[in-house]
Amino acid sequence: MHSAPPRPPSIDRVLNWTAVAPLIAEYGREPVLAGARMVLDSARQAARSGELVDYTEPALAFRLAAHLAQHHAPRLKRVFNLTGTVLHTNLGRAPLPDEAVDALVMAARHPCALEYDLASGGRGDRDDLVNDLLCELTGAEAATVVNNNAAAVFLLLNTLAMRKQVIVSRGELVEIGGAFRVPDIMSRAGARLVEVGTTNRTHLRDFAEAIGPRSAMLMKVHTSNYAIHGFTASVAEIELAQLAHAHELPFVIDLGSGTLTDLTRFGLPHEPPPQASLAAGADLVCFSGDKLLGGPQAGILVGRRELIQRIKNNPLKRAMRVGKLTLAALEAVLRLYRDPDRLAERLTTLQLLIRPRAEIQAQAERLLPALQLALAAWPVSVATEPALSQIGSGSLPVDRLESCALAVRPTTRKSGVLHAIEAALRGLPVPVIGRIAEGALRLDLRCMGAADEADFLGQLVKLAA
Ligand SMILES: *Cc1c(COP(=O)(O)O)cnc(C)c1O
Repeated sequence: MHSAPPRPPSIDRVLNWTAVAPLIAEYGREPVLAGARMVLDSARQAARSGELVDYTEPALAFRLAAHLAQHHAPRLKRVFNLTGTVLHTNLGRAPLPDEAVDALVMAARHPCALEYDLASGGRGDRDDLVNDLLCELTGAEAATVVNNNAAAVFLLLNTLAMRKQVIVSRGELVEIGGAFRVPDIMSRAGARLVEVGTTNRTHLRDFAEAIGPRSAMLMKVHTSNYAIHGFTASVAEIELAQLAHAHELPFVIDLGSGTLTDLTRFGLPHEPPPQASLAAGADLVCFSGDKLLGGPQAGILVGRRELIQRIKNNPLKRAMRVGKLTLAALEAVLRLYRDPDRLAERLTTLQLLIRPRAEIQAQAERLLPALQLALAAWPVSVATEPALSQIGSGSLPVDRLESCALAVRPTTRKSGVLHAIEAALRGLPVPVIGRIAEGALRLDLRCMGAADEADFLGQLVKLAA
């Protein structure tokens, strides 16, 4: 006697199973129907290739639940940034302070006076939401905001230098990660690049000799992500401003990262703020919203009223403008800068950057036993060790912040262990992103808040399984 091969149930039967009812309640009937088709198809395929397939209700409902959970999980996942790079572009750069998150949620949930003048009841300008704050904080006459700093650079070149020449030092023709190269942005914006000086040295006379009837501006680009040492020379902003103005040209600076406060008062390296560039005579300065500023992705332009107005009148401004969520968050972050004394407690990015090494080390020692236990079955040793964090996003490229890491090192010669653990960490419910270098996988704890520790620890058991 032998039993007939098990036959798959009909879709209708699957949808009526009691075990499937909660899935329909959670995901809806259509998605569960589509998911059930997928699961049954792959079961049939497995059966055809000789596998013994369990078509019972518990087995199929379990597979359906797993399929739906995976298929419907949000793609944008929260992660633990333990890379040691605070402003990590691939991980979303600056985490926002609570004030900004609250403002963003308000703007997301409710109608808000985005381009509406509540005093007159007439049409308003969305830039007005942050214009006064930016002017107050930087000393500029006017300001405008676009999608990111790359857009700000593009828009200012397209507005002020189309079919004209832009004079830049050879030492500043930077590439900022992948697609943003100053010369490419120039040509796309319709501006002609005139390179002056050499990679390591550029003098005022190099600029002076390049000025001609087709010149549109002198430009300075902050060399965000590298530094040249040794026999170098660059021209001070104040001298470039004087030279430009003597020829009735604007002097424009792409600062890259912009901070509105003196970082040295927090023990961090000096980063030139836009207010210093404006005071030195720059006519227009642009910088990012989500680098050292610690706000949402945005490109901020500050400077002379007449130039800002011309930029705002460019039809492309409309294509690059920011939405209400960005403006809500940006306004809230800028407000924090009014009170520099409490900035270190309130601005998340700054909090992370100035976390003392001793505090990070104490945290590492707290978390060490749990990670050792979770990785007990792997041929590795886990220890705390000193680490050097980076600020990231091209800000202060050579400066490092003393930190502490959980370091995982292989105890066998078999290669691949670290990569396997790295992948397992990435596969956790809240993926943990570390960094492999010099034979160790390091989890730099600088960006792990005290409130995150429980979540981090809670999921470590999954590594042991
Ligand atoms: C980062 C950077 C940019 C691009 O800014 P995004 O906000 O990332 O678009 C442009 N110029 C410089 C000098 C930078 O450092």
